Amino acid sequence: MTATKAMDVTVLRCTACGTLDSGPRDLCPKCFGALAPHTVDGAGTLVSWTMIRRPPAAFRAEGAYAVALVKLDAGCQITGRLSNPDDHATPGRRVIATGHKDTVTLFSVA
Ligand SMILES: [Zn+2]
Repeated sequence: MTATKAMDVTVLRCTACGTLDSGPRDLCPKCFGALAPHTVDGAGTLVSWTMIRRPPAAFRAEGAYAVALVKLDAGCQITGRLSNPDDHATPGRRVIATGHKDTVTLFSVA
């Protein structure tokens, strides 16, 4: 672990049952209650990641990038990008949110 602090991440939280969801979604998948933005700490565990070497047209100018699935300590999974993918970025590694690009959360292996 480094001393770097994770940035906050905005997810959705059910106003009725408290379930967290990464969205985008209109209703809670458990109770169909209303979802509202909710800020959680952006620290978590890497579930998996993959390198997108041939991006879709909308992201082609960005070149290759890594998409990561992260299990946030707060209790929900979120898809983001991994900014420092390498041999050490194995499932189970600690990751922290380090920034945002548009609506996408950027993570780094801690
Ligand atoms: Zn709910």
